[in-house]
Amino acid sequence: MEQLTGGCHCGRVRYTINGKLGKVAFCHCESCRKATGAPVTVAVMGLKDQFVFTDSQPTLYQSSDHAQRGFCSTCGTPVCWQGVWHEEEQMFVYAGTLDNVDQVIPDRQAFTNNQISWLRVNEEIPAFDQTSPAVIEIPGH
Ligand SMILES: [Zn+2]
Ligand SMILES: [Zn+2]
Repeated sequence: MEQLTGGCHCGRVRYTINGKLGKVAFCHCESCRKATGAPVTVAVMGLKDQFVFTDSQPTLYQSSDHAQRGFCSTCGTPVCWQGVWHEEEQMFVYAGTLDNVDQVIPDRQAFTNNQISWLRVNEEIPAFDQTSPAVIEIPGH
């Protein structure tokens, strides 16, 4: 079984992701942008139970009425998002916090209605104005 590991910049918050991932998406939404300071994020998503924090827990911040974002209170690294999505408790970590970012490949873009005009990412993958569906048919997969 594939296992992914990652953590914050200072190493205080560490996580392991067990099992098959739900999706890996570029997210252009303004909420992710503000929460991370990055022009686009890559969300590595799965069911909340798949994510195990092996050292300190991230500090949670209520970023909207349905979701919380977690960060390291020592170094400030944004680490994760958690909330109900498609009627299940889900979580994603920002791909930049993975130990080996090459283990994941984004398969879609979400919230392109919020995309920054000067930013271009892989345009060969499906793009969605808003959130993306739980399951999509991806050509070539
Ligand atoms: Zn840290
Ligand atoms: Zn987002």
